[in-house]
Amino acid sequence: MVKAIVGANWGDEGKGKITDMMAQEADIIVRFQGGANAGHTIVNNYGKFALHTLPSGVFTEHVTSVIGNGVALNIPLLFQEIQSIVDRGVPRPRILVSDRAQIVMPYHILFDQYEEERLGGKSFGSTKSGIAPFYSDKYAKIGFQVSELFDEELLSEKVERVCQLKNVLLEHLYHKPQIVPGELLATLHDYRDMVAPYVCDVAAFLDRALKEEKTVLLEGQLGTLKDPDHGIYPMVTSSSTLAAYGAIGAGLPPYEIKQIVTVCKAYSSAVGAGAFVSELFGEEAEELRRRGGDGGEYGATTGRPRRVGWFDCVASRYGCRLQGTTDVAFTVLDVLGYLEEIPVCVGYEIQGEVTKEFPVTAKLQKAKPVFEVLPGWKCEIRGIRKYEDLPENCRRYIEFIEGQIGYPITMVSNGPGREDIIYRKSALG
Ligand code: GDP
Repeated sequence: MVKAIVGANWGDEGKGKITDMMAQEADIIVRFQGGANAGHTIVNNYGKFALHTLPSGVFTEHVTSVIGNGVALNIPLLFQEIQSIVDRGVPRPRILVSDRAQIVMPYHILFDQYEEERLGGKSFGSTKSGIAPFYSDKYAKIGFQVSELFDEELLSEKVERVCQLKNVLLEHLYHKPQIVPGELLATLHDYRDMVAPYVCDVAAFLDRALKEEKTVLLEGQLGTLKDPDHGIYPMVTSSSTLAAYGAIGAGLPPYEIKQIVTVCKAYSSAVGAGAFVSELFGEEAEELRRRGGDGGEYGATTGRPRRVGWFDCVASRYGCRLQGTTDVAFTVLDVLGYLEEIPVCVGYEIQGEVTKEFPVTAKLQKAKPVFEVLPGWKCEIRGIRKYEDLPENCRRYIEFIEGQIGYPITMVSNGPGREDIIYRKSALG
């Protein structure tokens, strides 16, 4: 049985917490896309962790953590991350790395920086982790697969060939130092030695696991609105954030994905540039940002302050639809307990017309939010474990949003910890 855990919005919805929680009843967790550019924050009995590359199952001893072929694999960062959790008392996790995963090269990170410098104020808000240059090279067929590290002849020939190309750009476009092929080859030899014990034919491994009736979780990064096709292009990431891509980025048949848990936060937050219709500014924003998440809305990888706003039903319905949602996990609800009333964005007004359909980017930039205001519940809801025990206005908020987005909210998260979860039977199924 395969389950996917993905985001409905711009990322940071709390997927890490939900994955860590669902990992208790899973055997294998696979990261299927993205790289070390975003992160998950997880709070459990070992402490508080920010993971960037490792799947959120690494804290659960019986789980095998897999880096799928769809991931942008930064080998030294992966090993630093493993070491950093082991140093804090977490048992050394069982990790497999797909032989078809491609490698983030040192020059990808440099190219990311150089391109941001070149674009100046017109940049796409990159985290400068090399992700866009990495995926560009993957699809231009000049990327390096993990398997290629083990074929010396192929590797040295390819290093020469790729350096020729990169050095033209470095010299003439960016006016930066060139890459020395011999040095790059030596770095790749180090990478090979680091990754060798973990390399695996992941598709074959997963095929066997499914025949043995194991439970596999696919862990997404970011959310629908950062998908290169269905998101707010070009302010998107460079690999698909959709559950459907989980089949490709892990290497398993799409029909095996039986449950798609789409994580939706009880208010909105986003990092980086791009239209954000229900965004809040000024003091109201500052207060929500300060109270938000677990210790404030600041990026897990970058530390950048996140932009915050009211819950956006238009974006979230679209986000859930594209994921193919079977269950919504509604998170960080406890944070809203300070509000007298809570506006919810229920439509977009675009050039005088109100729509509930999430538009393409050019129209999105013209959209103004249409709000409906719900009463707040004005109390702390952390620690509550039963849906019926939530204050009435809190249940009304959940049920109103469920009605607007049209997908069943079956889990409500009311705190960052594993046990801060309320399961709920939805009328929607
Ligand atoms: P992810 O990338 O989707 O995993 O999200 P992040 O880890 O970037 O952001 C989610 C933040 O919210 C983290 O700091 C979590 O610890 C925190 N969090 C998750 N669920 C809850 C919740 O229900 N309540 C509160 N207060 N914090 C939560």
